Order: sequence, then C-alpha cells, then structure tokens
Amino acid sequence: MDIETDYLIVGAGASGLAFADSLLAEADVDVVLVDRRSHPGGHWRDVYPFVRLHSPSAYYGVNSMPLGQDRLIESGRNKGFYEQAGGDEICTYFESVVEHLTSTGRSRFLPAHDHLGGEGNEHQVRDLRSGDVHTVRVRRRVVDAAYLETSVPATHQPSFTVAPEASFEPVNALPEVADSFQRFTVVGSGKTSVDACLWLLDHGVAPDRIRWIRPRDMWFNDRAHLQPLDQVGQTMEGIACDPEAAAKAHDITDRFERLEAFGRLMRIDPGVWPTMYRATMLSQPELEELRHIEDVVRLGRVRSIDADRLVLDDGEVPTGSEVLHVDCSAIGLRVSKAVPIFGADRIVLQQVRYGSPTFNSGLLGFIESRDVSDEDKNRLSPPYPHPSSIEDWGPMMRLTWMAELGWSQEPEVASWVASSRLNLMRALPEHLDEPHTQEAVGRYLEYVGPAIERLSAPA
Ligand SMILES: Cc1cc2nc3c(=O)[nH]c(=O)nc-3n(C[C@H](O)[C@H](O)[C@H](O)COP(=O)(O)OP(=O)(O)OC[C@H]3O[C@@H](n4cnc5c(N)ncnc54)[C@H](O)[C@@H]3O)c2cc1C
Repeated sequence: MDIETDYLIVGAGASGLAFADSLLAEADVDVVLVDRRSHPGGHWRDVYPFVRLHSPSAYYGVNSMPLGQDRLIESGRNKGFYEQAGGDEICTYFESVVEHLTSTGRSRFLPAHDHLGGEGNEHQVRDLRSGDVHTVRVRRRVVDAAYLETSVPATHQPSFTVAPEASFEPVNALPEVADSFQRFTVVGSGKTSVDACLWLLDHGVAPDRIRWIRPRDMWFNDRAHLQPLDQVGQTMEGIACDPEAAAKAHDITDRFERLEAFGRLMRIDPGVWPTMYRATMLSQPELEELRHIEDVVRLGRVRSIDADRLVLDDGEVPTGSEVLHVDCSAIGLRVSKAVPIFGADRIVLQQVRYGSPTFNSGLLGFIESRDVSDEDKNRLSPPYPHPSSIEDWGPMMRLTWMAELGWSQEPEVASWVASSRLNLMRALPEHLDEPHTQEAVGRYLEYVGPAIERLSAPA
C-alpha cells in the first residue's frame, strides 16, 4: 500500500496532535499521523494509574477541543486550583481528538506503525502488526513530533542493575503491590518521585517508612502562578517576578534566591541548594507534606540495587527484602539539543514558550499554515532545550521572552495566541482592571527588556 500526503507527522502524542489540529484548522492540507503505539496520546498510554496533569486541563491538549470543564478542585492539596485531568481522561480525550481530525476527511492515523526513515519525499513505515512496510510520499514536509519523546518508568530501561532478589517495580505497580511491603525506597528526584511519595503518604504509609533517593534536589514552580482564567491575575504576579529577578540579579544564585523570596520557586528542603530545574510545579500543601519524609539519600545516582544494599555514586545504604524499590528514574521530557524547527523538508517540534508543550506545538502548526518564508517561521520560533539544571533557566526565559516579543509584532500570530485555549494567559485582558494585575503587568514590562539584555550578556 502506498500513501500520499502533504504532511507525515511522526508521533501521535500530545505534540503531534496539537500540531495537526492547528494546521488542519488553518490550511486545506492532508496529514498522516503515524505512531508505534497502538493508540494516540504518546506517553500518557503508559503512565502510572494515579497520574494527573501537573498543569490545569484548561490549557492542555489541542486548540480546537476543550479538555475538562474548567472546574475548580473542591478538596485536597490542590483545592481551589483549576482541575487537572487524570491519565484515563487524557487518553480518552486524545482518542476523541483523532476522531475529530479524521472526520475532516483530511487526516489519517496509522496506529502501531513505526517510521523507519526516508530520503527526500519518500518515507517508509512498518505496520508492527503485519510486518508490512509501506511507502509514504510526502508532498510538503515530514514533522518530527518525537524529537523530544517522553520517557516514563513503565517503558524505559533503568541506568542501574537490579539483583533478582531485590523487589523493584516501576511507579505504575504501587497500587497493586504496596500492601505487601513494610518499607519503600523511591528512586528519583523529579515530579514522578514526588507523585509516588504523595501517593504513599495518602495511602497511610508513615513518612518514616519511606526512603527517598534524590541524586539532585529540584526547584519547583508554585502551582498558584500557573493558573488560567479567573486566576490569571495571580499568575501574572508570578510571571512578573521572572524578568525582575533576571534583570536585578548579579549571578545565578542571586537569581534563584530572588525567585524563592518572591515565592515563585520553592524547594522541599530549605537547607539544601537545588541544582535541578525542570519547569515543573507543586502546590504549597504538597510541599509541606513532602517535608515529612526525612530519610533522604543524597549520594548521587544509583549504580546497583543489590539484595542487601544500594550502591550509589558516592556511597552505599543498606536495604533488604522488606523494601520495595520504586522506580521513578525515567528522564521524562527528553533534553535534546535545540535545532531549527522549520527545515527544508522537515519540521522538528520543540519548545518555544517555557512550560507550554501543547501550546507550542499548536502554535507551530499555525505558523506552518502561514504563507511566510521559513526564515520568518524560524524567527518566530526560537527553540530552547528542555531545562535540566539551574543554568538552563536563563536561556529558556530569554528565548521565551524574545519569541513572545516576535509574536506581538505579527498581528496574525498575536491574534492566534490571544484567542488560543492553550494559552495560559488568554484571560489576561479581562482582568486588567484589577490593581494587582495591572501592577504585575507594569512590573513585567519594566523589567523584560533589561532582563533580555542581562541574559544576553556573556556570563
Ligand atoms: C507524568 C507526566 C506528567 C506531565 N504533566 C504535564 C502537564 O501537566 N502539562 C504539560 O504541559 N506537560 C506535562 N507533561 C509533559 C508531557 O510530556 C507533554 O505534555 C506531552 O505529553 C509530550 O508529548 P509528546 O507528543 O511530545 O511526546 P510523547 O508523548 O513521548 O509522544 C511521542 C510519540 O512518538 C512516537 N514515536 C517515536 N518514534 C517513533 C517512530 N519512529 N515511529 C512512530 N512513532 C514514533 C512514540 O510512540 C510516542 O507515542 C507531563 C509529563 C509526564 C511524564
């Protein structure tokens, strides 16, 4: 079977779908989406059962279809914030997105198909069920929506060895097996490990039964500053702190101290200076809860889990058969080198505005639909690699602010951004009469120029 299309989109995760959705809404083109997985949604198909979006559903997904109902959470540690969809809801949502795209008659989805590569405009995909290889002729471009593919514990290969006698499970298994263990060792420093610890605490595991292996401590954004719609004013207050800190600070440490003093960034242990920053978020009550876990091991990365001890880069700790080792060590968002997004025959989806993966892909789909040169498209879309350390915050913010400035000078792009449901700030104009919001906008405008200048200067 030979297939012909305008765009071959490799990867039907959130990024590929958000791109396809915006492109199809604006241009009379045909797209084919392929994915190795047998359903759309990417890594969300393999997440742990108790996962939820970290950000509100209100600005996640694709531009043309709402996710959730913009309700406020009524109880628990995120009470008062906008609802965050769980894994099943997200997967069902992406199934509906594919149905919607297919209903246009201009989109096809090939599940369980591996993109093998290609030359020029001819690409090969293998049907993983039959083994058959098909040629896809691409009239316009191939879209690489897997360049930043997300790695999750259920499907990744841990970087350390595990003795057969040790009990070791991906975080996904917790609900099934937790009752059989006395003690838990959570391996990983990122948001997944946070979710694992909170799940254990919520299920009656006393903090002193949990050991947390944290090779690096992490800075978290306060969830209060990432709320859309009626809470956009407090989000603006948080956002204004970024350029002010960048403009005034004399080095990275000073910058993070200022962001912490503003309440923009938070750390679990006030006595330990985090070196990791991954643009993820927590609420204050979540942070307080996590502080109850005191057995934190900071001896670098795990090298092996043996029957009676854990070997780490900088030492060892004892373990035993009563301990479940919970794997939360997958990298999550891949940190890949930034490359130009719009190439001659290939588009490589990457991050442009910080902390907004689906907004970025939707915007890139819109930009691709415009009749402008690739040079202009790339000017509007300077990519940054996913951040990993505190050193990455400056370049990420500088590129975000420069991109936003570029969008504001292009009426069509500015109009798409202003009306997109994926834009965290879309309700801002309706809240400009609030004094604290006005003050925050003023502060942002005052500092963003000096901040770009400061961050552009050689270190
Ligand atoms: C636990 C967790 C929670 C998160 N919460 C949020 C949140 O609240 N808000 C937010 O904005 N972001 C969140 N993220 C970030 C999230 O990763 C992105 O929002 C988004 O889901 C990433 O989608 P993607 O399409 O880029 O990547 P993926 O989901 O990894 O999809 C890439 C797809 O490409 C396919 N693929 C790769 N290579 C090939 C090939 N050769 N042929 C065919 N198919 C191929 C893969 O099978 C995969 O399905 C979270 C991430 C994690 C891990």
